[in-house]
Amino acid sequence: MADAPQKPAPQQPVGGRAAMQMQLAEKFKNYKHVWVFVEIERGRVHPVSWELMGEGRKLADDLGVDLCAVVLGPRNDDTKRAIRETYHYGADVCYICEDPLLAEYRNEPFTRALTDLVNRHQPEILLLGATPLGRDLAGSVATVLQTGLTADATELKIADDKSLAATRPTFGGTLLCTIHTLNHRPQMATVRPRVMAMPEPDSKRSGRMVWHSLRMQEADIVTKVLEFVSDAQVEKANLAYADIVVAGGMGLQNAANLKHVQRLAEVLGAEWGVSRPLVQKGWAPAERQIGQTGNTIRPKLYIAAGISGAIQHRVGVEGADLIIAINTDPDATIFDFAHLGVVADALAVLPALTDAFARRLS
Ligand code: FAD
Repeated sequence: MADAPQKPAPQQPVGGRAAMQMQLAEKFKNYKHVWVFVEIERGRVHPVSWELMGEGRKLADDLGVDLCAVVLGPRNDDTKRAIRETYHYGADVCYICEDPLLAEYRNEPFTRALTDLVNRHQPEILLLGATPLGRDLAGSVATVLQTGLTADATELKIADDKSLAATRPTFGGTLLCTIHTLNHRPQMATVRPRVMAMPEPDSKRSGRMVWHSLRMQEADIVTKVLEFVSDAQVEKANLAYADIVVAGGMGLQNAANLKHVQRLAEVLGAEWGVSRPLVQKGWAPAERQIGQTGNTIRPKLYIAAGISGAIQHRVGVEGADLIIAINTDPDATIFDFAHLGVVADALAVLPALTDAFARRLS
């Protein structure tokens, strides 16, 4: 009797999460290391770059890879100093592109330099500061590289599958979402100044340098810098990096009462700020707003007067070393996270504090 025809063995289902992860691992196997773009504007490194180096170090250690800095600029002492400092702030390797075309920030040469470097050396993570320059550059670099970018991340972690988990507020700040770039590399994120802590520099550290040349001519660049107009005369808030900040909220009741906040700030040599409704009412400019959609601050002392302590305000101030809240309502949310609370009328306490400090400090 002839053998019955053999049934084909049941096939293992192809595809599924595990198979996809294997395909992606194969595709990305050459992408390694954590990169931080070091922002130099008018010769000065923006401190957010060092804050990102601190955060980048943790990610690189979790992955067991190098932390690398990227320095783009003209060949001069400022660039040299920046390169040296990258090692002090934790870089194992510094990728450097020095060219006169990189003297002033312009999107085209910076995008070209950074995308060429990424294509050549294939980092798995690329971090930039969420400054005006960093936001401009990150957007175009992510577009050219066709990869994912999480803007304004508030937390960065390495997930169990070794991808970057970048958390940021969403739905108008009412929820936090964690974003993973699974199908593309590098995984990019921007982080606002002062969101991450400043690491301690170690001036004994040094590392490797990798040089890159910019393959571009001035004629290839559409944008021309005709003149740099300094806004030194314009009074500018430097809330993010101030040691002392005094802020007022709706408890001040009207725009005129903001003067009590400003006077105390002046006597203390502090910066002054406001909660968002005061900006919305036109009582203060947007650059004075503190919170999730304004400035993130990390001062040694934060005095909040007539501010309820809503979550969108709290996320911008909880990095302060000492928070003193003045509020008439003993149940105000701000007392949940303030280190010292004064249950009183801010319109009486602020002038009293101003007088007391003025006498003491004069
Ligand atoms: P209120 O909530 O009105 O609180 C006023 C406080 O003053 C009360 O606690 C009251 O008890 C107290 N008070 C009244 N009179 C006195 C007095 N005489 N002396 C002392 N205390 C007094 N908010 C921000 O601040 N920053 C942000 O970046 C921000 N971003 C946001 C983003 C989104 C998407 C959304 C939806 C909201 C955002 N908000 C932000 C708004 C936030 O939710 C709150 O509405 C806001 O912080 C409240 O401001 P406030 O505490 O000044 O006012």
